[in-house]
Amino acid sequence: MEPVNLTREDLAAVQEGKGKRTWIVFYTVFSLVLIGCGAWALGTRYALTEVKPHVFVWVPEDIHDFDGDPRFDVAGTAGFIIGQDGVIVVDTTNTPFHAREVRYEIRERTDLPIKYVIDTDSRGDHILGNEVFMDERATIISTPVAAAAMREYHRDLVKRMDAEGEPGLRMRQRMRGIHFTLPTEEINKEMAIGVGGEEVRLLLPLAGPTAGNIVVYLPASKVLFLGDLFENGYKPQIQGADIQKWVAYLREIATWDVDVYVPGHGAPGDKKSLADFIQVLENAGKTPSPQEDSSPNQATSGP
Ligand SMILES: [Zn+2]
Repeated sequence: MEPVNLTREDLAAVQEGKGKRTWIVFYTVFSLVLIGCGAWALGTRYALTEVKPHVFVWVPEDIHDFDGDPRFDVAGTAGFIIGQDGVIVVDTTNTPFHAREVRYEIRERTDLPIKYVIDTDSRGDHILGNEVFMDERATIISTPVAAAAMREYHRDLVKRMDAEGEPGLRMRQRMRGIHFTLPTEEINKEMAIGVGGEEVRLLLPLAGPTAGNIVVYLPASKVLFLGDLFENGYKPQIQGADIQKWVAYLREIATWDVDVYVPGHGAPGDKKSLADFIQVLENAGKTPSPQEDSSPNQATSGP
C-alpha cells in the first residue's frame, strides 16, 4: 500500500510541479509578447521625415491619446526647420508629451536655440504642447484672432476641469501635467522670419476651417505648411466654414511652385494629394452632411 501512496503523492507533486512550470512558461512567453508589443508601440508612435534638407515633418500614429483634452485626443502633424542660427517649430501637437517627442527629434540633430514656434491654428490639437517651447524661450507666434480663440478655449477648459463629479475629475486627471500656454506674439500682417539660411514666410489666408490661421511657406525649399486648411487622408473639418473661399484658396496655392504640402493631419503630401483633398472639399460643399458638421471630431482628428 505504501509504495502506491508514495507514487500518488509523487504523481501529485510532479503534476503540481508541471503545472507551475507550465504557468511559468506561459507567463514568460506572455511577458515577452507584451514587452515586444510595447517596444513596437514605442517604435511607431510617430514618424519623422526630412521632406527637404533641414525641413522635418513629425506625423503622429493615428491613435487616440488618454492624456489631454478629450476633444482633441489626436495630435496634429507638426514640423521644424533647422537654420544656421536656430530652429523654427510649426505647431506643437495636442499635449506637451508629444511636443517633447518633437523637441527630442530636434535635439538629436542640433543644439541651436529654438527661436520661433508658429501656431497655425487656435485649436487644442495644434497648440497644447506650446509650454515645451516656452521652456526653450521661443517666441510663440499666432494671429490676434487665433489668440483670442485660444483664450476663450482656455476659459472653457478651466470650466470643464472645475466641473463637479466624474466629468470634472476625469478632465483634471487628463490635464494633469499640462500647462496651457498662450502665444507670446501676435501678428496681423504677413511677414518673413529667418533663422539663418532660407526665408520663412508667414502667410495669413482669409479662408479655411477656422479664422486666424497661419500658413508657413518656404519658397526655396518649396514646402508649404498648411495646418488644417489641408488634411491628408482625413475628412475636412468643415464646421460652417466658407467652402467656396477655402477651395479657391487651395486652388490658388496648388499652382505655386511647391513640392511638399504639409497638412494639419496626416503625412506630407504632393500636388496630387492636395487635388484629392480639394475634390473631397468640393463634394462636401455640394452635398452638406449635417452629421459630419455636428461631429467632425469623431470621424477625423480634432474639431
Ligand atoms: Zn487639427
